[in-house]
Order: sequence, then structure tokens, then C-alpha cells
Amino acid sequence: MADCIFCKIVAKEIPAQILYEDKDVISFRDINPMAPVHLLIIPKQHYQDLNTAAPADECLLGHILAVAQKLAVEQGIAESGYRVVANNGLNAGQIVDHLHFHLIGGHLLPDFA
Ligand code: AMP
Repeated sequence: MADCIFCKIVAKEIPAQILYEDKDVISFRDINPMAPVHLLIIPKQHYQDLNTAAPADECLLGHILAVAQKLAVEQGIAESGYRVVANNGLNAGQIVDHLHFHLIGGHLLPDFA
């Protein structure tokens, strides 16, 4: 999608520290990490948020969580604990309107407000 920063990362039009990629999904380091490990996992196809994913996308959504699990192991945070978060919409503080899952860990994370 034009003017979507994450679509530009998918298209390799702007740089990112990519840690995982397959035909459907890509993961890269968050540019402004809030923890020692802070990755983003996104579908390559543009979805604005979770609301725009359809029942037919169940497989893709499950795959994203499987990728999160694999990356947590690779990043050494599987045992210590980690968080997988998708901000959806205004009240959740979604800034980038391309569905993405934060994988965050590496230290004690604050409680949710
Ligand atoms: P949010 O939409 O609030 O769930 O979070 C968007 C996240 O994308 C933020 O944590 C940003 O730091 C991150 N971000 C924005 N632009 C880039 C970029 N070019 N490369 C990596 N991460 C980015």
C-alpha cells in the first residue's frame, strides 16, 4: 500500500533489521525499542489492523504467533518471559496502520495500566 512504512519495509524500499522472513510474514527490530528485545512481526499483505483480518486469515494469524514463539526462543527470552501485543486503533495507541505484533522481552515488563 502506498505511503505505508511497513509495506515499504516489506518491499525493501527502506531499511530494517530483518530477523525472519517467509512468503507471508516478516519480522524486524523495532526502531525505538522499549525493552532489550523488541521485534515487530507483520503480515506482508497490508491489513490496517486486526479488525480487517477475515476468518480466512486464521491460518496467517496463527502462523504469526508461531513465528513469535520461534523468535522468542532464538532471542533467548522464551524462558524468562515475553509479551506479544497488537495495538488496534486509537485507544490502544496504534501509530502504524499496518497490522503488527510486538514481541517484547529481556527484562521485567511493567504491568498493564
Ligand atoms: P504501534 O503502532 O503503536 O503499535 O507501534 C508502532 C511501532 O512501530 C513503534 O514501536 C515504532 O517504534 C515502530 N516503528 C515505526 N517505524 C519503524 C521503522 N521504520 N522500523 C522499525 N520500527 C518502526
